[in-house]
Amino acid sequence: MRDTRRDTVFESYAFACLNCGYGWEQTYRIEHHLDPQGQPYVLYFAGEERVPSPLARLRCPACEGRRVRIMRAGLVAAVDRAREAAPAAAAQQPGPATTP
Ligand SMILES: [Zn+2]
Repeated sequence: MRDTRRDTVFESYAFACLNCGYGWEQTYRIEHHLDPQGQPYVLYFAGEERVPSPLARLRCPACEGRRVRIMRAGLVAAVDRAREAAPAAAAQQPGPATTP
């Protein structure tokens, strides 16, 4: 099996239903792939579940309404990036506690 995965990013979106007022947030794992012809395509995952593009098909989980407003949340993704940038900093213990 050929792995065509090139890049994986995480993006968070905030949703608000204009019908019932329900609001929620979802983080998507977005995998960038190349098909055998070399054409790029992306797959969206919510957790482990493959989902359609959040930008293409939206439905309110509370009322099934389709008048859903989507906003880029961005907060979670930014936190993930910060963690990746400095993974050692969180694991390090400060000196004074272990010094005799
Ligand atoms: Zn709704």
